[in-house]
Amino acid sequence: YYEQIQHSERLKTTGQLAAAVAHEIRNPLTVVKGFLQLFEKDSSYSVDRQEQFTLMIDELNTAEQVISQFLSVAKPDKENVTEKVNVKVVLQSVTDLLHSYGLLHDNRIELKVTEDCTISANTIEFKQLLINIIKNAIEASNIGDRVLVTAGREKDFVVIQVIDQGQGMSEEQVVSLGTPFYSLKSKGTGLGMMICFNIVEKFNGTIDFQSSIGHGTAVTIRFPTSKLS
Ligand code: ADP
Ligand code: MG
Repeated sequence: YYEQIQHSERLKTTGQLAAAVAHEIRNPLTVVKGFLQLFEKDSSYSVDRQEQFTLMIDELNTAEQVISQFLSVAKPDKENVTEKVNVKVVLQSVTDLLHSYGLLHDNRIELKVTEDCTISANTIEFKQLLINIIKNAIEASNIGDRVLVTAGREKDFVVIQVIDQGQGMSEEQVVSLGTPFYSLKSKGTGLGMMICFNIVEKFNGTIDFQSSIGHGTAVTIRFPTSKLS
């Protein structure tokens, strides 16, 4: 019983949970992929069969990529540090990271930072938050749509907006956001928003959604500007 309490204590931040999940999923994937790579090169299988193995390996590679890009950015030992985070620098690196993901459906990510601003947060978790929000915006977008990411200051707050022109959400959908495993995607995890809400709360921020079915969604994130020197 005691062990169990200790264990959940150890996994209490979402980042650590994400890292643990990533680790546990990556291992079996590696094993399965290893076998498939053997079969792929085994000429006793028909060419058709070998092509199917190649497809399976490709799919596993995609899964591996998703895991490393979107979950394992969380390095448990580097968490729990609240530092001065330059919003522009992080936004630039996150939009660069997601650029090629957007191009898969011809979605361009446009970044507009009107002012240099800093917040008190953890860089890794802040990145994770933005990756999840921008990734959702891309996934909701139609081919050719643009995703706009803006950042600026409003009094003592840094305001970040992620605006898409995609499918939008109904009021019930917006209310359901953050519920673990709530996902309308065939390949979704339904964990992204839950992780985001936790990170926003951890650094005293707020997150709001304005959405209209068929027209798109604007996500607004606010954090107090950093008072750290
Ligand atoms: P996942 O992306 O794995 O489905 P999330 O927690 O990130 O899980 O999102 C939950 C659900 O919220 C998505 O399946 C989607 O239906 C909806 N959603 C989130 N962001 C948007 C958005 N920008 N536009 C439309 N729907 C969205
Ligand atoms: Mg998501």
